[in-house]
Amino acid sequence: MSNQVAALVVAAGRGTRMSDGDHDLPKQYLRLGSKSVLAHTLDVFLDHPRIQQVLTVRHPDDETLYESAIAETNAGFEAKLIDAVPGGATRQQSVFEGLRELAKSGIRTVLIHDAARPFVDHPVIDRVLRQLDDGQQAVLTAVPVFDTLKRTRETDTGLETVDRTGLWSAQTPQGFAFDGIFGAHSRALEAGRADFTDDTAVAEWAGLGVVLSEGNPDNFKITTQGDLERADRRIQMMERDRPSLALLADIRVGNGYDVHAFEDGRAVILGGVEIPHDKRLKGHSDADVVLHAITDAMLGAIADGDIGTHFPPSDPTWKGASSDQFLKDALRRVTDLGGQVAHIDVTIVCEMPKIGPHREDLRNSIAKICALPVSRISVKATTSERLGFTGRKEGIAALSSVTVRLPFHEGETP
Ligand code: MG
Repeated sequence: MSNQVAALVVAAGRGTRMSDGDHDLPKQYLRLGSKSVLAHTLDVFLDHPRIQQVLTVRHPDDETLYESAIAETNAGFEAKLIDAVPGGATRQQSVFEGLRELAKSGIRTVLIHDAARPFVDHPVIDRVLRQLDDGQQAVLTAVPVFDTLKRTRETDTGLETVDRTGLWSAQTPQGFAFDGIFGAHSRALEAGRADFTDDTAVAEWAGLGVVLSEGNPDNFKITTQGDLERADRRIQMMERDRPSLALLADIRVGNGYDVHAFEDGRAVILGGVEIPHDKRLKGHSDADVVLHAITDAMLGAIADGDIGTHFPPSDPTWKGASSDQFLKDALRRVTDLGGQVAHIDVTIVCEMPKIGPHREDLRNSIAKICALPVSRISVKATTSERLGFTGRKEGIAALSSVTVRLPFHEGETP
């Protein structure tokens, strides 16, 4: 079942330029609510637990626009993002460039998706993956055509009604067994065919069986100014569903404390940042004493046990684990309560290594893990005047305070 899945997001298009009032840009870079269309689309795939790699094919001229879009995606998924590749002259050639890049990584399954469909959701993706798991070679996301269709006649001004029975409107993602679609695209280009407008059409041409998977009418493609306005209304509705800060009036503060001892090594990991040192911190996980103290402070603020309750050191799963997982789990617990983290403060106590030169890296790293502005993250450091275990350079201690804002729950007044 550990079938390697990649998402290939096609964002190389140039044709339609639209304006959102402030910008005249390729549509995948227009702003939709708080971020660009492409960032919304990428987040859906980055956030899907079965997708291990996400690759964008961008236009050769769009490096800067692409970098800005990436900076807007949700934090914590950097490892899934492969460096974007420049596309070709047609959509089909762009997809081929993407597949060629993915071929290097031993991918077994690929989902190909248009960047201009930011409202794709996990149920749609899951349905495509389920059919591929069942052994299908090519899966087309589609919705039935409900509108009555008319065709104009060349000979006169009359119209004829088209029978819509069995007609489907194609969407993306389209999912494929990787070797099948890569082979089909390669053969199509060798045969001089570069005009296919979607990938199941390439698959059909190459003789692969294509099956349908139920799409979602909301997964529409932004093509016209009208589509952009519809998308904007939808995003506004989605973003309005988030609780406003004024409703999060139950303000809680938690504190956390952690210690790890030194052992021989080459670097310590603090706040997710590797700092070169002649020792490392000893522990079951990566021993990131800073993230452990913050995690405990966050759990303290919502009165939900401590890091050991949720991640017992006796569980081999967490051996060598990267501690950002523990902090993200605590964050999820805050979010599940309808709350938000307002502020994180941490104090690191050690003689060595010197924290000062790395302070901003630590702040940025913690901000990224928690998807918070860096202005809400404080990192301080002190020595203990050579007193005690930290003074004897036997280890590092960290203390943290975290402020959390929650909605008041009924019957629960402080
Ligand atoms: Mg610890």
